Amino acid sequence: MKKRLKKCFKITESPLFVSLSPHKNTSFGFGRSFSCSSLFSLLVGARESSPQKSKTLKALFLILQYISTYCIYTYIHSLCILETMEFTLASVTDLTSPDSSLSSSSVVASFSCDGEVKELRFQESESAHGFSFDLSSTQLFKLGPLQFVFVSDSSISSAKEEKSFSRGVVIKFRDDKESKEFCDSFEEWTKDAVKQGSTLPNGTVSVNKSKFDDKIEAASAKMYFHYYGQLLHQQNMLQDYVRTGTYHAAVMENRSDFAGRVVVDVGAGSGILSLFAALAGAKHVYAVEASEMAEYARKLIAGNPLLAERITVIKGKIEDIELPEKADVLISEPMGTLLVNERMLETYVIARDRFLSPGGKMFPTVGRIHMAPFADEFLFVEMANKALFWQQQNYYGVDLTPLYVSAHQGYFSQPVVDAFDPRLLVAPSMSHVIDFTKMTEEQFYEIDIPLKFTASLCTRVHGLACWFDVLFDGSTVQRWFTTAPGAPTTHWYQIRCVLSQPLHVMAGQELTGRLHLVAHSAQSYTINLTLSAKMWGPGANQGGILQTSSCKLDLKEPYYRMSQPQVYPTQEPQAQPEDIHTQGDDLDEVELLQHNVNAQL
Ligand code: SAH
Repeated sequence: MKKRLKKCFKITESPLFVSLSPHKNTSFGFGRSFSCSSLFSLLVGARESSPQKSKTLKALFLILQYISTYCIYTYIHSLCILETMEFTLASVTDLTSPDSSLSSSSVVASFSCDGEVKELRFQESESAHGFSFDLSSTQLFKLGPLQFVFVSDSSISSAKEEKSFSRGVVIKFRDDKESKEFCDSFEEWTKDAVKQGSTLPNGTVSVNKSKFDDKIEAASAKMYFHYYGQLLHQQNMLQDYVRTGTYHAAVMENRSDFAGRVVVDVGAGSGILSLFAALAGAKHVYAVEASEMAEYARKLIAGNPLLAERITVIKGKIEDIELPEKADVLISEPMGTLLVNERMLETYVIARDRFLSPGGKMFPTVGRIHMAPFADEFLFVEMANKALFWQQQNYYGVDLTPLYVSAHQGYFSQPVVDAFDPRLLVAPSMSHVIDFTKMTEEQFYEIDIPLKFTASLCTRVHGLACWFDVLFDGSTVQRWFTTAPGAPTTHWYQIRCVLSQPLHVMAGQELTGRLHLVAHSAQSYTINLTLSAKMWGPGANQGGILQTSSCKLDLKEPYYRMSQPQVYPTQEPQAQPEDIHTQGDDLDEVELLQHNVNAQL
């Protein structure tokens, strides 16, 4: 890297006017012809024509003239104090027109300032061949330690029609030091140059508030990415062998979907899925991760040198970053509790719309939310008992009962997360399909699921149990990954929405209702559940709904019940296994068993 001594401090031919008021005579200009005395006149509120006679006034005049000159100098200096800088590059490839790429052995990138325009010029050192970019609408993406993509929406030297497109170049450095210095300079030079709110025709310049920031509270996002930035939480997911093993199997069994293909890993975390894709022969994998985990992913990937050359870690949000090419395959693990928690499925479909080539594959392809009513007296009593604390009338002499109802409501607004015995289910499950290849981002904002079950036995229904599965629709093998009760437990467990007013049902009685999920800005959902038991027995045909119970829960505030495992009686099963189709109708139990066994291998 060369630093030229010449300061980028230039007063333009055309004067820069700083308007102090709408009136012409109270504006001042500077340029080659700027006048300090006119500024002074302005400061003291006098006209140039006013005679200044007294000595004191003259002295004051000189002092103020000095101050104003100093201020103007400082202002201009602050505008353009940056030093013109040159960097020698290993190569520059113009993505828009590869023919015009600079092929000479030494290509120079130089930051300079032409009047008010700050630009970056790429030029062959021994010829005048080159092109320049206006730094006011540019982005720089790191593809690797020495490789970057530089994207701009205006090319100063290009023909008019090119202005309506983005232009991108891939630049390579000779060593780490130069690459780092270039990045620092880019940051410095673009700090003031970037036009706020300017957009690239095919995307949004990163200075804009991103789509993600628009819908997600900053505090929630901060905590979320802080969580995923820690190795212990990534380890927790990696140690979920049902999960990671199923992903590994789904990729390896479908090698032909990965071999020679461009893959994007949406929310790469530790980079594990990128490494699997590279192992399966991917041509190139872009591992996109927004949290600090991106740095660890770089380290992990670098430590696997046979795969590292085909993986590029990009630190940033899917919603904000740009990629130099379209992908043939997206791989991601965007599932949260109840499938949709964390709202990362929205990010997954945004990645599809932004980066996936038409007809490209998505791993996973489809997700299903499964639901069934359950009966669990233990759980119900346990939750009701928690609020009993607030029934005390003499707590150190204080009556706590005014808060009892609120506390009771509070406990019943928490979805319960644990692994339960599938024999607690009292009706065959039903499912709601979410096709990741078709669902729009907006369709995730509100998910409305009508419910209809037929009770298998006479019991008290305490609420709705939910779990999910996802399908990897590979060209060779279709593999399901399930979080169903009774299947090997995953770190998602299952989730149960408990009603504070249980319903009574008879075997064969119909239960109807609605599960209404409304996304909120803390990366989760408000769950509204209503369950009703229809009239049963003689006269049912004339009757309507017999009992209704509903609850409102916040998926963001679950009650993790893992520390208190319950022993359920085994001698009197509440429902026969054949009554309960934990996998829905289209996935039989043999298949389920088989893929769970496979997943563990
Ligand atoms: N793929 C990894 C990690 C999955 S956890 C694995 O399977 O082990 C989901 C990851 O996605 C987290 O690391 C989180 O930080 C990241 N993530 C979530 N939303 C994102 C977004 N909008 N852009 C980029 N990364 C995101």
